[in-house]
Amino acid sequence: MDAFYRSLKQKGFEGDIDDSEATRQLYSHDASLFELVPQVVVRPKNAGDIEKLVLSVNECRGEIPHLSLTGRSAGTDMSGGAINDSVLVDFRRYFTKINSVSEHAAHTQPGVLYKDFEVETLKHHALMPTYPASRDLASVGGLVNNNSGGEKSLEYGKTQNFVRELKVVFSDGVERIVKPLNKDELDKKMKQKDFEGELYRKMFHLLDENYDLIKSAKPKVSKNSTGYYLWDVWNRETGVFDLTQVICGAQGTLGLVTDIRFSLVKARPHSGLLVLFLRDIDDLGELIPKVLSYKPATFESFDDQTLWLSIRFMPSFLKMLGLRRFLHLVFSLIPDGLQLLRGIPKLILMVEFNGETEGEVRQKIRDLHKELGSQRARYEINGFEEDPNEAASEKFWLMRRYSFQLLRSKVKDKHTAPFIDDFIVNPEYLTEFLPKLRLIIKKYKLFATIAGHMGDGNFHVIPLMKIEEPSERAKLEPAMKEVNALVLKYKGSLSAEHNDGMVRGPWLTQMYGPRVVDLFKQTKRIFDPSNIFNPHKKTDASWDFSLKHIREHF
Ligand SMILES: Cc1cc2nc3c(=O)[nH]c(=O)nc-3n(C[C@H](O)[C@H](O)[C@H](O)COP(=O)(O)OP(=O)(O)OC[C@H]3O[C@@H](n4cnc5c(N)ncnc54)[C@H](O)[C@@H]3O)c2cc1C
Repeated sequence: MDAFYRSLKQKGFEGDIDDSEATRQLYSHDASLFELVPQVVVRPKNAGDIEKLVLSVNECRGEIPHLSLTGRSAGTDMSGGAINDSVLVDFRRYFTKINSVSEHAAHTQPGVLYKDFEVETLKHHALMPTYPASRDLASVGGLVNNNSGGEKSLEYGKTQNFVRELKVVFSDGVERIVKPLNKDELDKKMKQKDFEGELYRKMFHLLDENYDLIKSAKPKVSKNSTGYYLWDVWNRETGVFDLTQVICGAQGTLGLVTDIRFSLVKARPHSGLLVLFLRDIDDLGELIPKVLSYKPATFESFDDQTLWLSIRFMPSFLKMLGLRRFLHLVFSLIPDGLQLLRGIPKLILMVEFNGETEGEVRQKIRDLHKELGSQRARYEINGFEEDPNEAASEKFWLMRRYSFQLLRSKVKDKHTAPFIDDFIVNPEYLTEFLPKLRLIIKKYKLFATIAGHMGDGNFHVIPLMKIEEPSERAKLEPAMKEVNALVLKYKGSLSAEHNDGMVRGPWLTQMYGPRVVDLFKQTKRIFDPSNIFNPHKKTDASWDFSLKHIREHF
């Protein structure tokens, strides 16, 4: 790497360069089941540093053939997106400035943690509502590059809907603004005789010549994080051409994002939760549309395994909550003693309503409660809990948001193996789909927790496995293939939020077919002809490579 370091020095790189063994090991993991040890971790101080990194990589590629740059913010990616074997570019140390926030918009650097960003937006009664369950861990840069979604996505969709403008360092080593353009602006860009002009020209031709194929390739689900979102870039009817939409969710494979302008929504002052305890999942198909017709802000769920494991790891909740709230959690977690005797609920559903006043929220909850209550016996809903304020319902949010994090850190003999962790099928298919999914989980003897965004039909299945044992590893590919096939049979998407990375990148052709994947590959080549940005991910992923890098050290 000496040539690379020399080149950076010559160009006046101001950031940190750290190739110590401890740092390399620390950055060899994200929240996925893979590990890749980087050669060096760099922490650029400004956009100029990132331009220098790209220029140096281009310059040294002859001498160091596989030199590449992988962006990394908080490193909570579950697909292996934030690890690699060359240069990791860490945004968390210096790209942490929130430039401005108003009622409707925010301008920020990518390394800001979402939880810090939210403190500032709430001062203006505003929210960037697509935050993930990892809201306390993840950065806004990660949200953009994974096109994250979360509990409020039912109402607001995904992060791409809130990105107004980005600054991106492209593969020629120049930082540029990317924003929606009208046709005149696009024509002007396409006339430029530089890398940017060529990029716009080639992307426009690709999108225009394959317009119908691209539009019809858009997954028919409410959320999708797979592939490149070509269908959202060029709209002949409105004449808008918006490259931010293909950079969102690209996992840093098209360029490095240095600056973000978000639009915000008004934070609704009141919210309340209706919790349903389901002993049987058979009637979900009828229940879901009924709940959705009341237009809840969120509709989340977690299963009995999550409940048991959370009870098992109560001390960790104690740490998170403090003694008083912890005792409240212990006493209120289980619906009632009688229910325990009848058996733990199979599924816990959380339906949240927002509103301008507490009365409005209470009314919405009561209306739905009333409708479902009349069918209580039929649905075997044993208990309802009506929580008209957020503090009282915190226990359920804790279970839903923190269960995966707890499993990651607490189960010592087994490890979380997210490989079927994020599929989505439209809710109308769930009654047929879920029993079939359970059969696959049973067939491979996977001990798995299931939580998810019920309203979208998006499920997070997280098996706990002794992944270092060959017999356990051998289950990954066949189990994944069976689940993928089932998801695609029901016209779903392999990832709603967590993205492709190393785990789903290899199966893009199975999902989209070769013609569309070829368009994805052309896109990658237009942006990044020498493949310097985050190789082995998305269209450049192969299962052989991914399999060789399954995590061995915990
Ligand atoms: C407990 C837990 C729960 C989760 N729940 C959800 C959920 O509900 N919804 C959801 O969507 N995700 C979820 N995730 C996955 C992950 O937390 C999110 O995708 C999150 O937005 C990633 O943010 P990050 O800052 O950690 O990004 P990283 O992990 O650092 O990076 C994510 C991707 O973006 C790229 N990248 C990062 N910064 C840049 C940059 N500046 N320029 C270019 N590329 C960049 C990386 O290369 C990587 O491919 C969860 C993860 C955990 C551990």
